[in-house]
Amino acid sequence: MNKEMLNLGNNRSIIRELFEFSKTQKSILGAENVFDFSIGNPSVEPNQCVKELILDLLKENDQCQIHGYTSAQGDIEVRDAIAKDLNNRYKTNYDSSMVYMTCGAAASLCITFRAIVESNEDEILAIAPYFTEYKVFVSSTGAKFKVVPADLKNFQINIEEVEKLINKNTKGIIINSPNNPSGVIYSKENLEKLSTLLLAKEKEFNHPIYIICDEPYREIAYDGIEVPHIPSIYHNTIICYSYSKSLSLPGERIGYILTPNTMDDYKNVYAACLGAGRAYGYVCAPSLFQKVIAKCADKTSDMEAYKENRDLLYNGLTKLGYECVYPQGAFYLFMKSPEDDSFKFMEKAKKYNIVLVPSDSFGVKGYVRIAYCISKDTIINSMPQFKKLMEEYRK
Ligand code: PLP
Repeated sequence: MNKEMLNLGNNRSIIRELFEFSKTQKSILGAENVFDFSIGNPSVEPNQCVKELILDLLKENDQCQIHGYTSAQGDIEVRDAIAKDLNNRYKTNYDSSMVYMTCGAAASLCITFRAIVESNEDEILAIAPYFTEYKVFVSSTGAKFKVVPADLKNFQINIEEVEKLINKNTKGIIINSPNNPSGVIYSKENLEKLSTLLLAKEKEFNHPIYIICDEPYREIAYDGIEVPHIPSIYHNTIICYSYSKSLSLPGERIGYILTPNTMDDYKNVYAACLGAGRAYGYVCAPSLFQKVIAKCADKTSDMEAYKENRDLLYNGLTKLGYECVYPQGAFYLFMKSPEDDSFKFMEKAKKYNIVLVPSDSFGVKGYVRIAYCISKDTIINSMPQFKKLMEEYRK
């Protein structure tokens, strides 16, 4: 047996662990008495067009075609619709030959890493705080996973720290913005500085250094802040997208990889993704949902609900004296633990039936992540509990 896989299977991620803990507590205490901020499961309904399309598709005569295999890279109709939507939004010139349909962002990332990693010497960088599964996905290709320390002031990309870590073995850097867990959106200026650095390093080492842009929260941005389209800033960018959050479809496993024509060698990168998808046995993303996305590519769920939650939570917690990073997007709030050890804080919060995720597995110590993709009532009713929790520290 592969010991690494055995270990992964036997040890759930802390988020999954807390999610299971919440489920047990809810069955004992009643769902309304547990304030579960553990997991990023969307709480707003999918756009109405999703339901209507599924019902229509299930009425079609040829059900074998609806549920059948598609091309390995996905139906031409959905890939075409995605390319057109991106072109409308970003004034780009993409087409279906650059889009590869996948089973969500996780599959997009695994395929991309497999496609670009050549040897165990290769290194992939992630910027703290980062989505915990990156380490698992990168390590499983044999490449080394390196962490760029967080910019604890602004939670932007710390360019000097990136520079220190880049060497001839660097294959790529993962960018996730709006960020899980900080909720921060990397500014255009910050990304331009990164682009300048990467271009210089590509020249120095004479090989591509890819940005792997993981953007499942692209559409969840507040206060009119624009999420920069990274291929327009840096040429060697591969986009890993998912409809899990923007259309509230995480269980349906649908997303895509875009290998844009801004890249030096985009046709071969696309072919390597096809190869990696084949090697993993990931070909042909769910066909019913490919057909749904072909008609809903330009739609989202109602993102205003998350903004209301953001405001309630941020204002409520800061008023109680908690120190929070102001979330500009996604549906996570990053809060400073009132004591250095965020695991101890998590345990104390549990006494008040508040379930928070300690930040250590995101590559930063001393914070907790609060997922606010939950009902408004849960946020409102959690405030007296957060107050009691803070009082413990003030005693
Ligand atoms: N990347 C980030 C930053 C995420 O937060 C998630 C899920 O929460 C994923 C990737 C995986 O998304 P998917 O469900 O589409 O596989």
